[in-house]
Amino acid sequence: MLTSFTAHLLQAALLLAPQVTAAGSSAPSVTRPGRPPDTLWQQRVSYSTEARLDEDAQVLHAVEVVRYHNASPDTLKVLFFHLYLNAFRPHSIWARTEQRKPFDFGALRDPDYGYERVRSAELVPWGRGGSGTGADASGSGARDRSLTAAYPFAPDSTVVRFDLPRPLAPGDSTRVRIAWDARPATLCRRQCRQGRHWDFAQWYPRVAVFDTAGWEDHPLHPQGEFYGEFGTYDVTLDLASDQVLGATGVPVEGDPGWKPDASSPDRTVDYQRDWYGRPVRLDDPGLLDGPASTGRKRVRFRAERVHHFAWSVDPAYRYEQGHLGKVAVRVLYRPGDLDWDLGAAVRRTIRALRWLGGIYGPYPWPQLTNLHRLEGGGTEFPMVIMNGGPGQGLITHESSHQYNMGILANNEWKEGWLDEGMASFLTNWFEREHGVAHPWARTMRAARAREAAGATQVVSEPSEDFVDYATYGAMIYTKGSVVLRMLRWLVGEDTFREGMHVYYRDYRFHHVDGADLQAAMEKASGRELAWFFHEWLRTTWTLDYALGDVHTVPDGTSGWKTSVQVTRRGRAWMPVDLAVGDSTLRLDSRDESQTVTVVTTGRPDSVVLDPRGVLLETSIENNRTALPAHDP
Ligand SMILES: [Zn+2]
Repeated sequence: MLTSFTAHLLQAALLLAPQVTAAGSSAPSVTRPGRPPDTLWQQRVSYSTEARLDEDAQVLHAVEVVRYHNASPDTLKVLFFHLYLNAFRPHSIWARTEQRKPFDFGALRDPDYGYERVRSAELVPWGRGGSGTGADASGSGARDRSLTAAYPFAPDSTVVRFDLPRPLAPGDSTRVRIAWDARPATLCRRQCRQGRHWDFAQWYPRVAVFDTAGWEDHPLHPQGEFYGEFGTYDVTLDLASDQVLGATGVPVEGDPGWKPDASSPDRTVDYQRDWYGRPVRLDDPGLLDGPASTGRKRVRFRAERVHHFAWSVDPAYRYEQGHLGKVAVRVLYRPGDLDWDLGAAVRRTIRALRWLGGIYGPYPWPQLTNLHRLEGGGTEFPMVIMNGGPGQGLITHESSHQYNMGILANNEWKEGWLDEGMASFLTNWFEREHGVAHPWARTMRAARAREAAGATQVVSEPSEDFVDYATYGAMIYTKGSVVLRMLRWLVGEDTFREGMHVYYRDYRFHHVDGADLQAAMEKASGRELAWFFHEWLRTTWTLDYALGDVHTVPDGTSGWKTSVQVTRRGRAWMPVDLAVGDSTLRLDSRDESQTVTVVTTGRPDSVVLDPRGVLLETSIENNRTALPAHDP
């Protein structure tokens, strides 16, 4: 995601380098270098959901049946779910720790605060209609099936725990029916409602991830984002019939209200209703029995191999559409911001998606919807980006998250750099290849200033452990992007591209961590890179190369011989390029002081360390020496 402040900068022009200070997250250590892809287990989930949006009462009533398959080697005695909308109300951890004035959720009163309130929860036995394994965790009687909600971080309620009456063994599945009410806050932060516009970024009880580290039952903090289990979402929404809807997945039934503008690149709506065949809904939540009432409509969406489902409605949404191959690109924008229209946002989204496909691999989902949300900035969800503006930088950043986060699903509060540093890095790379003169200039200045001031923390640490929001943004986004740029330079651009293909090929639709990216880059480069990942992501070591004495003399034939003294300060190490006149060589010595002799045909006019300005040094003032044209 990007905050509105940053996004505001981004919207100033079609293409601008993003100087990002925003939200993401991170983790202490990475301990599975090079795990083979076939040893990765992941829990499997599916959601069958029905929801009715009551705009008069300002509440969403909903029921979901979640199928949960325990693919882990562990026996589970509990299930954890996230109730993220409860962050946006008084007494949440978010409300108590938010440092930025405009987002004072602690001060909101009814009906302005958001909530997500569990009304009931029960296990659903595998009956005649069920297709489970037969073994499950449900008891025999109705009393055994009822689940009691417990809130381990109370008064925060962004995590709810249900104790299972019987443990769920490895290989077994269970079904849980949860009824709840939800309401976004009127104060916009990654979710919002105002008038008839509803941004349901978060809205349903979402199964917490169980992975090799155990339950990832982590309350929502302002610093840090999300992590989810891949699965299938089958969601039926009961809405006022004039609402226009954008969501994760494809509309398999019902009318989402898309009527293309006259200026839309595509004039015929591509609903993609058959993308998943004719999908049968697994379970009946039982909320929306009978037909929709007068003035209402039902729209059923389906999405597969995603770890989240986001949606937004506004009766005023304008619709434009384009295509990248079979992938539909949908833009839903609010009238009044005309920069979105005439196909501009559609084309920018396609441009970003096409380029990203070249970096990773083909976009695997049916569509990408670019929604014009109420809040500024942008936030990413599978198949959906919710953006406050139509700038190319913001679109590229958020679209990149379809890969780094959506398809390659890192734990965003443990290793935020892996999706946010990557998004910032890819956006600058995209801009360099689309005519922006110096996309890295501001990023490098900001990163060097922090290194010089010692105002750094370990990049790979839990997001809420950063001392403040600015440091969090500077480490996760800015330094994360600079580190990835150094890695690309270190292994070479072609090798780096190959590494990204390997990363995507081996780990897509899996939870990933920094060790997986390291393994992919090692596979592509044939080099051991543990030192690099350790040094730049798990320490705060600094680096500064400096030029010492430089002497140039005729070499006795027709050329010139230049001897250069190079010193290195700080605990970090990287190779460094040295340019003497027109020739450049890479210095690989780990000595703190080295003297290098370079022979050139012409008399060099300057000596420059790191001429491409790639290294994260505390100073670059000592990197250049101009040589006299004549002997003094
Ligand atoms: Zn982001």
